[in-house]
Amino acid sequence: MIRKLLSILLMGWALIACTTSSNPNPRAIPLDREVENQVEEWLGKLSLEEKIGQMCELTIDVVTDMGKKDGFALNEEALDKVFSKYKVGSILNVPQGVAQRPEVWSSIIRRLNEVSAETCKGVPQIYGVDQIHGASYTWGATIFPQEVGQAASFNRHIPRRVSQIGAYESRACLIPWVYSPVMDLGRMPLWSRMWESYGEDVFLNCAMAREAVLGYQGDDPNHIGPENVAACLKHYLAYGVPVSGKDRTPSSVTDRELREKFFQPFKSAIQAGALSLMVNSGVNNGVPFHANYKLLTTWLKEELNWDGMIVTDWADINNICTRDHVAATKKDAIAMAINAGIDMSMVPYEVEFCDMLRELVDEGRVPMSRIDDAVRRILRLKVRLGMMESSTWDMEPTELAAQFSEFGSEMFAKEAEEMAEECMVLLKNEDVLPIGDGKKLLVCGPNADNLRGMNGGWTYTWQGHMTNELGPQMGNYPTFQKALGERFGESSVTYLEGVHWDEQNFDRDRLADDWGRIAGAARSADVIICCVGENSYCETPGNITDLSLSENQKQLVRELAKAGKPIVLVLAEGRPRLLREIEPLCQAVVHTFLPGNYGGTALARLLAGDTDFSGRMPYTYPKHPGGFVTYDYKPCESVGTMEGNYNYDAVMDVQWPFGYGLHYATVGYSNLKASPETFAKGDSITVTVDVKNNGQCATKESVLLFSSDLVASLTPDVRRLRAFDKIDLQPGETKTVTLKIAATDLSYVDLNDQWVLEPGDFRLMVGDQNVTVQAVEKK
Ligand code: BGC
Repeated sequence: MIRKLLSILLMGWALIACTTSSNPNPRAIPLDREVENQVEEWLGKLSLEEKIGQMCELTIDVVTDMGKKDGFALNEEALDKVFSKYKVGSILNVPQGVAQRPEVWSSIIRRLNEVSAETCKGVPQIYGVDQIHGASYTWGATIFPQEVGQAASFNRHIPRRVSQIGAYESRACLIPWVYSPVMDLGRMPLWSRMWESYGEDVFLNCAMAREAVLGYQGDDPNHIGPENVAACLKHYLAYGVPVSGKDRTPSSVTDRELREKFFQPFKSAIQAGALSLMVNSGVNNGVPFHANYKLLTTWLKEELNWDGMIVTDWADINNICTRDHVAATKKDAIAMAINAGIDMSMVPYEVEFCDMLRELVDEGRVPMSRIDDAVRRILRLKVRLGMMESSTWDMEPTELAAQFSEFGSEMFAKEAEEMAEECMVLLKNEDVLPIGDGKKLLVCGPNADNLRGMNGGWTYTWQGHMTNELGPQMGNYPTFQKALGERFGESSVTYLEGVHWDEQNFDRDRLADDWGRIAGAARSADVIICCVGENSYCETPGNITDLSLSENQKQLVRELAKAGKPIVLVLAEGRPRLLREIEPLCQAVVHTFLPGNYGGTALARLLAGDTDFSGRMPYTYPKHPGGFVTYDYKPCESVGTMEGNYNYDAVMDVQWPFGYGLHYATVGYSNLKASPETFAKGDSITVTVDVKNNGQCATKESVLLFSSDLVASLTPDVRRLRAFDKIDLQPGETKTVTLKIAATDLSYVDLNDQWVLEPGDFRLMVGDQNVTVQAVEKK
């Protein structure tokens, strides 16, 4: 009785301690006392071993029966070790490394939930999967354009719906937690994960990330709904700017830039309620992100007053020791990472993490308060997901199938196709497009008949290498050439195989036959549609040292051009491969990014003019191997030639700038106004502009508002995106678009790590219009 009373008192104290924390910053996620009560209650039940087990995440391989030849089976002995002995709190990854049917997923997860809860006083493990661009590790799920394409739509509805449907189809598998969205700014074009990001811009990333979080989680982060999942933002921080361009290699970003640019999308997503976050595998200015107390604890947990959970990336605590040589032993690395603020370690193979962490606590090297903080965050995630109530997470596959009857539906497929249309960008059009009916088309190039190249990585497998084999077994997903045949009529479309993208081995003789066949077909075509780019890849296997489009593909275009027929170059690629030598040979260029399973149909409709293009570039497409830049470059990077004896010139020469994209319709801007024109900190500015469709077809227009700070104490960026909206426009229609920005949106981070709005002039620009406004100290 006394013990019980004492424990109630202690619980009450702990609750007060955690809810009335002295943190003066507003909470990122609103306090829910019921949730906190439950967290404290569960925490109070757990022993130190159980708490440490909760902090450990292992890959499904560890509990897989590897001896089983046909299908998947759990290994009971391993389950016993992992759960009964070590009380492991989370399992991740895809069984057998390949997409599973919903009923297979749910029966595996159900069993894992059951064993783990039974052996850890009722606390089940939480299963995490890389379900990105839809439930992409689930057989038959709806697959959408990858994030970079979603960004090109400049339409907030798209990431919201992709995540909503992705969450729904994940819940149909009993999956509670997805490792998405990626919020790394894609500012290094060589990087093998450019396509996983929303592109290079801070504001676009902030806007899209917020929508993705709301789509996955719904709008009450304390109570994740029955069709929602927990999001996991990744990879904190600045993962997209490795200096060498290679995955998981060092970045060199100052704290000032981290705060002004790279931190912003994470902040925006956290303020939208994101419940968890994964850390960047790399090292910045010598410090592994996994050991960075300032970024993990001070910025995230304290400044944002965020009560969510931080998980490592794959093996990254070990990497602090074995790869980065910052810790002498794995145990030292664990102490560094946990003390820096890591809550859960994606170990992912060794339970010894638990033994070593236990020793560290006994030795006083990791304080109990840190363990309790980490475990509270893990339990809070599980409570918010309703995982402690077995009814929600214990459903039979048949019950799930009945409840999630829209899984893989026609309706979702239609949405995915419409989204793919909005995600493609028309980059060049010299009167070739749209292609009228009755024209003879030659379709060729290595991506013409390649579902794999349309989807990219994280599609059915990590590298996406089995998509051509698996996709057609799951549904009718026409490739570019098949969809063009369907739209323009089989008899009008000739598809020629041959010419691969081989990155290394350009063999002119071996390809001579291909050129011969292709040249003949090109001469008898009216229009040539040449689909080039990249095949799928992901992470380190996608590293390259030359951004140029492969020589084979460039040669293909040169050969085709000899026929003198118009060429439409169709790009499907995860990063901007350089094509300045062949672009002038093509009369039209379309970027499809990685449009997913419905990209073929979307491309055919766009090329036929059934619908208009409305995408815009989410990153700057470089032109030269040494000319990587983002649109928010500094004034000195583009100054022309200076007067005098020395030719101090700096020329900005890119293939296509951020925000660029053409239509079939002609859209005009007029009447840009800003009010008030003079403002101070705390004010908001309303910008209006008239947008008119002067063309013959209906279209959609993304209206982008940029600002330029004309003079600042630190050299300002030449332009920054500050707001955008996407509208529908019928032929002849004019709409007045209103965009609002806060005065503080025009501020920047100074050398003291403070946001400042300096008095002075700013130019606001929308389309070809601009207006100058003025910030003052006080009005
Ligand atoms: C990747 C993450 C991914 C994790 C789990 C890592 O290799 O960097 O993006 O979520 O694996 O699969």
